[in-house]
Amino acid sequence: MSEQAQQMSVSDEVAIEITNMNKWYGAFHVLRDINLTVNRGERIVIAGPSGSGKSTLIRCINALEEHQKGQITVDGTVLSSDIKNIDKIRSEVGMCFQHFNLFPHLTILENCTLAPIWVRKTPRKEAEETAMHFLEKVKIPDQANKYPGQLSGGQQQRVAIARSLCMRPRIMLFDEPTSALDPEMIKEVLDTMVELAEEGMTMLCVTHEMGFARQVANRVIFMDAGQIVEQNEPEEFFNNPQSERTKLFLSQIL
Ligand code: ADP
Ligand code: MG
Repeated sequence: MSEQAQQMSVSDEVAIEITNMNKWYGAFHVLRDINLTVNRGERIVIAGPSGSGKSTLIRCINALEEHQKGQITVDGTVLSSDIKNIDKIRSEVGMCFQHFNLFPHLTILENCTLAPIWVRKTPRKEAEETAMHFLEKVKIPDQANKYPGQLSGGQQQRVAIARSLCMRPRIMLFDEPTSALDPEMIKEVLDTMVELAEEGMTMLCVTHEMGFARQVANRVIFMDAGQIVEQNEPEEFFNNPQSERTKLFLSQIL
């Protein structure tokens, strides 16, 4: 683990607890006996081949997908089909996808204030102040009145992160946030994520950016065929992989 990652603190408090979780898409058993405890302040990178279930796992954590067996607890709330629980969890868990999913017909500022105003019932002025605060944080306050189509991919992804932060999440989930970006824009998005990590945000990141994993993660989880095959701190994970599947994966990406 890098010195930087060691300095970031991890508390004893549990943020996410997943026990014996299984999920099927119809007859297809996509996640098998997932057990995972994430403490507050942890930065976890989830790696693994395409189709291994990384996105599905992330999506189960904020109830975008339903699991069929086992239990997921987020911030002490058990995820059930009870709609109240789902709303509570979604309001505490921010999510950032590969495709930014900004509303094209709304300005950057409006994208950031929409959910706070309509879901949280935050007064408009306060929502706009919060939005500007986070747009400054991701270093694009000057773009506030533009539309998504007028921004570069890297800028749009930073807006998507700012938009999530406006809901004041305690946990952030990232699903390949840099995969759709041109190479020169990847760093600006990763820098934003590094800053979030340094501020103590609990983060689960599906990413192929192994430099980011080494720099920021306190734990790397390797998934294959719907299972967590191996997990370790980055240094051990990269230098001393245990399973053949992990070795094969690393030999293909590094
Ligand atoms: P990853 O993110 O690791 O690439 P996914 O979680 O997207 O993997 O997908 C895991 C497996 O589940 C893949 O085989 C994929 O084709 C399948 N899958 C994903 N979403 C659905 C869905 N909505 N219905 C049926 N199968 C799906
Ligand atoms: Mg995926």
